[in-house]
Amino acid sequence: MIKRISGLFWRNQMIPASNPKGDFILRYYSTRNQGEYKTAAEAIKKGLADDGGLYVPAERAVPFKKDNLPRGSYTEIADVIFKLFLTDFDAADMEKAIASAYNDINFDHPLITPLHKLSPDLHVMELWHGPTYAFKDIALQILPHFLRTAIKVTGEKSEVVVLAATSGDTGKSALEGFSNVSGTRIIVYFPEGGVSEVQQLQMTTQEGDNVGVAAVRGNFDDTQNGVKELFNDRKLKERLEKSGYRLSSANSINWGRLLPQIVYYFAAYRDLLSRGELQPEEKVNFVVPTGNFGNILAGYYARELGLPVNRLICAANRNNVLSDFINTGRYLSRRPLHQTFSPSMDILVSSNLERLLFEITEHDPRQIVRWMDQLKNSGEYEVDPETLQKLQGLFWADYADDRETLQIIAETYRYFHYLIDTHTAVGLAVLQKYRTEEKDNCHSVLLSTASPFKFSGSVIKALFDGEKYSGVSELDLLHILSRETGNPVPANLALLHEKPVKHKQVVGRQDMRDHLLDALDL
Ligand SMILES: *Cc1c(COP(=O)(O)O)cnc(C)c1O
Repeated sequence: MIKRISGLFWRNQMIPASNPKGDFILRYYSTRNQGEYKTAAEAIKKGLADDGGLYVPAERAVPFKKDNLPRGSYTEIADVIFKLFLTDFDAADMEKAIASAYNDINFDHPLITPLHKLSPDLHVMELWHGPTYAFKDIALQILPHFLRTAIKVTGEKSEVVVLAATSGDTGKSALEGFSNVSGTRIIVYFPEGGVSEVQQLQMTTQEGDNVGVAAVRGNFDDTQNGVKELFNDRKLKERLEKSGYRLSSANSINWGRLLPQIVYYFAAYRDLLSRGELQPEEKVNFVVPTGNFGNILAGYYARELGLPVNRLICAANRNNVLSDFINTGRYLSRRPLHQTFSPSMDILVSSNLERLLFEITEHDPRQIVRWMDQLKNSGEYEVDPETLQKLQGLFWADYADDRETLQIIAETYRYFHYLIDTHTAVGLAVLQKYRTEEKDNCHSVLLSTASPFKFSGSVIKALFDGEKYSGVSELDLLHILSRETGNPVPANLALLHEKPVKHKQVVGRQDMRDHLLDALDL
């Protein structure tokens, strides 16, 4: 049944089917240990494997044939891709999940991830039409439904409590996704004074019966470590279990967050073909502003599934660990972390890279453990020449600094009358470098990861000379950007100042445990 729906097969179907109907069940295992198999539902419920590795499919798909690529509407493509990977989910549950996530209440564009043609061979894929105007919405709108279904499939009796530490975007996106999803609770911690005014208001005005938000005294590291301690607290775990709760995480190591991102790569290709921008034999480049390597890794999986991708172009900001790695084979995390105008990419350890290395070493967990141990102990590792060669065949990488970022925002607005945010600008700057160096004029799709209004301060700085609006509050900057460019302020941001603040708690790091128990009425 499942196989017929997807029209696809996995390569190794010799594995004993693990459901009574005899359907093929795709299994997952950890990048650090192939001994323990999980179903998709188990992998999504758990998030991270106990050995610290990430879950990946244990089998490889036979790629789609050119004339058999998933097509149709966004939700139809999602249906094909999800059913392929989540073989233990019930088809009706899946369809319900997709309909609850990708609809015109949550997304303000009917295509979900529309393409904007910037020039004949450059298309911007706008991934920010969801409720919080950043691309994380695309995964976080469906993850709660995946999780709820996983709970059902695995016979889990407890209510799942999702904890998240956030430096800004993830927290709000997770709150929006989980708000009022039955069987789940979401509690978000952010560093007091460590997020922007708009981001803080987005979180503290969150509605929903199953949500909690608190500021933590300290910086983002304190907040994140505090959440990690809650996860590792055995006594707390026992107490929660007795009361019918189970902790889970919503960050990008969860397979359920990666999978939804594969869909829009296929959607972009479908759009280019159907508009006649692309001939059926042509391949496409995708340019991806990268931090944790989740978004671009989804592009790799799309390519593995047969999408005609030429190069995946990895764009980093001044924290250029990833572009250095792809160019030299040496991952060097021991370096200062710079605060840039593209803060969602200010990352030194990109956790999803582990999945890619596992894939291109043909699933070699011993090698992965060696590299990850080296990274943990000495802050660096170097891959072998064969792995480097494979890496460079798939990816091209470079970075852009803050000055280049602002310059390209200004140029794009001047020449094309099109506004981009700072993260997208990093991608565009790197694409220009790619074209200059590689003389490749394949069609390129630039993944636009946030609405320019989410980063109004930097965008205004780029468009208007220096100090004109310095000292103006962020909420006012939204309206200034709108007035100066004629683009409307996105609805949920425009309403922010009218919404009542519902979450005012500030807790010390050592009080997070009590806060959590209190939030659960324990
Ligand atoms: C999270 C984020 C990124 C980085 O995405 P990864 O999947 O971590 O590489 C880029 N831009 C924006 C706006 C983001 O929120």
